[in-house]
Amino acid sequence: MKDINIQGIPIVVSKGNPYELGWQHGCAVPDKIKEEVELMLTLCEKNAGLGRNECLSIAGRFVPTIEKYNPDYLTEIQGIAEGAGLSFEEIIFLNARTEMLKLGNGTDRKDSISLKESGCTSIAVTGEVTKDGHTYVGQTWDNLHACLNTMIAHLVIPDSGTPSFFYVGEAGIISRMGMNSAGIGIGVNSLSTNGPVNFEGVPLQFVIRGVMDSANLAQAIESVTRMPNGAVNNIMIAYKDSEAVDVEIDHDNCECLYPVNSIITHTNHYEHPNRPHYPYYCIYTGSSIVRGGRSNKLMRLKMKEKGYLTTCDIKEVFTDHGNYPYSICVHCPNPEKELKFQHQTDCAFVCDLNDLTMDVAIGNPCKSGFIRISPFEDLV
Ligand SMILES: [Zn+2]
Repeated sequence: MKDINIQGIPIVVSKGNPYELGWQHGCAVPDKIKEEVELMLTLCEKNAGLGRNECLSIAGRFVPTIEKYNPDYLTEIQGIAEGAGLSFEEIIFLNARTEMLKLGNGTDRKDSISLKESGCTSIAVTGEVTKDGHTYVGQTWDNLHACLNTMIAHLVIPDSGTPSFFYVGEAGIISRMGMNSAGIGIGVNSLSTNGPVNFEGVPLQFVIRGVMDSANLAQAIESVTRMPNGAVNNIMIAYKDSEAVDVEIDHDNCECLYPVNSIITHTNHYEHPNRPHYPYYCIYTGSSIVRGGRSNKLMRLKMKEKGYLTTCDIKEVFTDHGNYPYSICVHCPNPEKELKFQHQTDCAFVCDLNDLTMDVAIGNPCKSGFIRISPFEDLV
């Protein structure tokens, strides 16, 4: 492994069978996994009024579905738990955190941590419009300020024959956003509606892992659509062969969006006219509509101005401050409140899916700047 510093976050490399992947992950960053579990439990309590035991019990309802989706993922979860000295139930809860937090959507409890400020802006451009003909995908990852402390960079090298993959995200999660060695890259955006959580659906983090385990774009799309999903979300998938498809997940079905003139952006509300369907509607859309429209506009203006796009163009859009502080680069909007529960851009990245490089910034990209890594070369 080269001497790489990803702006101070721990770098974890896991290799082997499903249990070994989890065990190495858990052993490498046990304190960060514990901190992330406690943080998400606190959030569930504040937003949905659920106590610790209730959270673990409710999240456990997803286990049969995960087993049906891919039983190896449960083996890996067991490995993470034992490596970190935590229970299987705690790690299942952590990996169902997206669905669990949606249980608090719209409840507007007095002590809730507003999810309205939570976002993420994803962008993909395919090779027809890029200067080097490569396909890029990336996103800003907007989350709690406290999650800055639980982030890791993780290279996963399975011995099962599926691609290796690399992501930056919270410790203890079976996969987050990033890219795999087959040239599949993803951005993920939380969506919010008044619709239900589907406990017979696959939780988002396992669906993301299904995409990362895919060898081509068709497989990646199938990994999102082949079983019901746990909750509403958006996954933008790009592929090195100049393709990108955005899959909008509803609690009972999915719709796909294709880039327009080789550019696609997505934030935290549905763009497809079929979704969400009556009686469901999007909530928490204010900042999302601005970031979605603005990221799309800025990318097309850059294209019009120069006639081509580069990774620098996406990185510039990710540092944009229009509609500050609820901008594409989100800054903690309520300095008078407790900092750890403030939302901000915790990370931004752009993957070049042909060169398999990632430009990544930890924290607000306007402050930290991007560094370039080649994870499948630098970290092995
Ligand atoms: Zn900024």
